[in-house]
Amino acid sequence: MTVPDKRVSTRLDPFVDAYAERTEGLKVSAVRALFAVANRPEVVSLAGGMPNISDLPLKALGSAIGGLIESRGPQIMNYGSGQGEEKLREQICEVMALEGIEASPDNIVISCGSQQGLDLVTRILVNPGDVILVESPTYVGALGTFSSYQGKVIHVDTDDQGIIPSGVVAATEMVRSSGRTVKFLYTIPNFNNPSGVLMSVERRRELIAVAQELDIILVEDNPYGLLTFDLPPQPALRSMDADHVIYLGSFSKTFAPGFRVGWVLAPPGVLKKLVLAQESATLCPPVFSQFAISEYLSTCDWKGQIEQFRSMYKQRRDALLRGLEDHMPPGTSWTHPEGGFFVWLTLPEGFDSDQLSARATSHRVAYVPGTGFYADGLGSRNMRLSFCFPTPERIYEGTRRLGEAIAEEAELRATFGFVNPCGSPSGLPAPGES
Ligand code: PMP
Repeated sequence: MTVPDKRVSTRLDPFVDAYAERTEGLKVSAVRALFAVANRPEVVSLAGGMPNISDLPLKALGSAIGGLIESRGPQIMNYGSGQGEEKLREQICEVMALEGIEASPDNIVISCGSQQGLDLVTRILVNPGDVILVESPTYVGALGTFSSYQGKVIHVDTDDQGIIPSGVVAATEMVRSSGRTVKFLYTIPNFNNPSGVLMSVERRRELIAVAQELDIILVEDNPYGLLTFDLPPQPALRSMDADHVIYLGSFSKTFAPGFRVGWVLAPPGVLKKLVLAQESATLCPPVFSQFAISEYLSTCDWKGQIEQFRSMYKQRRDALLRGLEDHMPPGTSWTHPEGGFFVWLTLPEGFDSDQLSARATSHRVAYVPGTGFYADGLGSRNMRLSFCFPTPERIYEGTRRLGEAIAEEAELRATFGFVNPCGSPSGLPAPGES
């Protein structure tokens, strides 16, 4: 037995010197840090991105899944294929056809949510120091994955049409001229988390052309694409180019996140590596969940359910936009998403959303400060507001409270010339979604 080093064992964490370098990239996400505050019943949470799934047909689901256990329990509660169940992969092809994708089930690997899909893609592609281009701002959970593999993130500017192709060219040239590699560009073309921006079809074409020209892989993350409000689903990047695009899909927002089922659609060579990586990570994706989802898709009106989700989230989006119109001070601006879960708000000059967060909590409203969605410290005047979970009335009330918090902060600033932040809620431990 080795005698513990005294210097080490007297520290708070006796393993402090044992961790691999890559763990330095593991941080509490800005969303999970707020979980405890945002979950207090008196607080209107515009922070979390929890889908509202209370209208799922629970009775029908219960009997379908119960029937499955009775008839096929020994099979569906056993280990399964590393690539995932074939029938579900066939059904996923039907889901993706709604966004113009023609794919073979052979090119799909099932993952434990699209989050694990992104983890596997990063694991097989990124060496420490490799560059990953991302939108400004981008999904906090992707930033966490990239930094856990010691990838270097570079943000590319976006506008109301999505990522700007000339920015992709400039960033790639800059990276390559310094002798480094751009491993891929990560994009959320539909209702970006956190900005809510929808990439226009024209912009998609331009981005594909740039990716082909520069020979860059695009990783298209698409959990919200079917949750459009007034538009039909938009053509996926993958429907425009099967060779340069790795596509990530998920049942978390169109069905339920607790099953933890997503997928990756990739060119054959990449797919082979992904299946090996999946086997080394989990042996196989969750078999019971896959059968449950497959049964749901076969026996329930899943398209009708998505329609219901669309109109329910649209009402909530409308309540948020109405509330912002009524309660935000001049100089504030925000996005007007056509789908998904999120609005991205920019505070007037001089405000800091991290600082304001504690004041907002004291007014019983929570949001996610913008800096969590950047790897480089930007976003201090921004916040992500989610409209997916609270009722429309609560969302509207949340904007009223937010307006009060901003007004109070402005008054203190005008009186004292500076504002003493009343403590930050970040760092509170709790699991949660993002
Ligand atoms: N990508 C984006 C853009 C997301 O917003 C989320 C969930 N918040 C995920 C991936 C992960 O989703 P899941 O693992 O539940 O499929």
